[in-house]
Amino acid sequence: MLHFARRVAIQQVRQIDRWIEQEEAREAEEQRRRDRAHAERRWKLEPQHGDRPALLHRGGCNTFETQVGYIGREEARIALAEPDIEPCGVCQPQTGLHGR
Ligand SMILES: [Zn+2]
Repeated sequence: MLHFARRVAIQQVRQIDRWIEQEEAREAEEQRRRDRAHAERRWKLEPQHGDRPALLHRGGCNTFETQVGYIGREEARIALAEPDIEPCGVCQPQTGLHGR
């Protein structure tokens, strides 16, 4: 009888471990989603390389990973007005930046 009770308890622990795993995976996915959503509302500046001008990107653009963090809407607008900073052709950071 005790051996049976032990097997049941072990199965229950394994089931709980699976639930914990699923819950942790769900939380990690939710965190990634929040990070992406946050980045999408921000912009980032890629410094000039050689004869390539500095580029303004949307926060979520995959062509460039920022080392220094994101900038807000107002700084992005100012950056775009700079003659030596160009908008990225892939993520089109100027879309939605004018107005509002
Ligand atoms: Zn870009």
